[in-house]
Order: sequence, then structure tokens, then C-alpha cells
Amino acid sequence: MISDRQVEGTSNPELSKLLQRLRQKPFCIWDKPAHKTEWNRTPQGTCCFNHIIPAGLPIKNNIGHALYDYEKEILDALVTHKRIWVKKATGLGISELLLSIWFIYV
Ligand SMILES: [Zn+2]
Repeated sequence: MISDRQVEGTSNPELSKLLQRLRQKPFCIWDKPAHKTEWNRTPQGTCCFNHIIPAGLPIKNNIGHALYDYEKEILDALVTHKRIWVKKATGLGISELLLSIWFIYV
């Protein structure tokens, strides 16, 4: 989640506004029914980080894709381990996922 320090630490008004919207929002709501409920409850789909950021959900072949289970496994591994190694095929969205995480925690 975006911290108060990150919100207060920027002088860019557009970025500050975006960070305010992201504050206290989860990166993703993995439980699909709960995610749908939160989507419907919040204005304009401001349920989670991935729906709030201007880039939106990862897009492949002009279709926005929700995060996949293997991306949750990577996130969970990052929480419990300092370093992880991912042996992957190209086009899985791992780089985009890690850049999103970097945005939140830096
Ligand atoms: Zn969402």
C-alpha cells in the first residue's frame, strides 16, 4: 500500500492526487467475488492499485487481464524472501508486475 510518507513527499500535484487515490488500497484483491463486490462498492472502480493506476490492468492483444495466480505466488515470495529467482517464458507480464511493486515500495 502507498504510505503517508509517499503521499506527502511529492511536489507534483498530479502524482500527489494519484497517490491520494492509491492510499490504503491493496495492490490487488485476489478473491474474485470480494474483488467484484469492492469494484461495485467503490466509485469508478477504485477498488485496488491495478484498477486505479492510469495504465490499468495489464493489456495483451488489446484485452486487459486481471492478475494471474502465478503473479500472486511471486508477490507472496517477495514478502517472505529478500531475493527471488523467476525462470519464465517471455510475455508473462513479470517485468510489468515487478515495476508496479517497485512503484509502491520505493
Ligand atoms: Zn480492483
